[in-house]
Amino acid sequence: RPRPLVAGNWKMNGLKASEKVLTEIQEGFVAALRSKVDMAICPPATLIAQLAEQAEGSGIAIGGQDCHARESGAFTGDISAEMLADAGATCVLAGHSERRQYHGETDADVAAKAQAAHRAGLVAIVCVGETREEREAGRTLDVVRTQLKGSVPAGSNSTNLVVAYEPVWAIGTGLTPTAADVAEVHAAIRAALRVLVGEAEQDKVRILYGGSVKPSNAAELMAVENVDGALVGGASLVAADFLGIAGAY
Ligand code: 13P
Repeated sequence: RPRPLVAGNWKMNGLKASEKVLTEIQEGFVAALRSKVDMAICPPATLIAQLAEQAEGSGIAIGGQDCHARESGAFTGDISAEMLADAGATCVLAGHSERRQYHGETDADVAAKAQAAHRAGLVAIVCVGETREEREAGRTLDVVRTQLKGSVPAGSNSTNLVVAYEPVWAIGTGLTPTAADVAEVHAAIRAALRVLVGEAEQDKVRILYGGSVKPSNAAELMAVENVDGALVGGASLVAADFLGIAGAY
């Protein structure tokens, strides 16, 4: 099994004072926990430099939530992967459902962003997941396979790619798929990775589950085959909850 990764996505939450949350997470990320899991926090871009400096030496990676495909240029409001790396980030989310939904990001856009992440030396955490309508129509595996195929760029491998399965209907709703449903999707992702990263890397790529992960359901979700960690939204804003989820390993 790949080494688990527990990643927090703070979304559009966090001010300078949120350093306290990271301090508490750092204090709780004791040797026993550190020996079992990797940890990452993706704060808003305004906090990356500050938190990356604070996290130095703690074993907690700091990441971005999005990046532009290009290195620099006339793209007002955008941030490049190189800028994230320069600020101290070592990873970046690509294709989170909120980016796909509210910013119209297509699979091709996501692949270009993930490729930019690789160009800048960042790990790309590529997010995929079906909507409620797609699940109800029985299209989950189709949708996830298509997203994955279109969103994972050439040159991906187990050191520069993490896949996050986040069913859209489970994000921020308190709803989660059953362990059997998670197992089915993660197995399909694992199988699809063969073509995308090759047979030698296929089993080493970490596949995270995200969507309403809490300390109370983490152990059950993390025990599922091919679940190599969690991508945590709301609960990553509370140090005790985030640590509780990491402690499920
Ligand atoms: P919640 O954990 O708040 O459901 O969010 C999941 C998510 O979107 C993480 O990227």
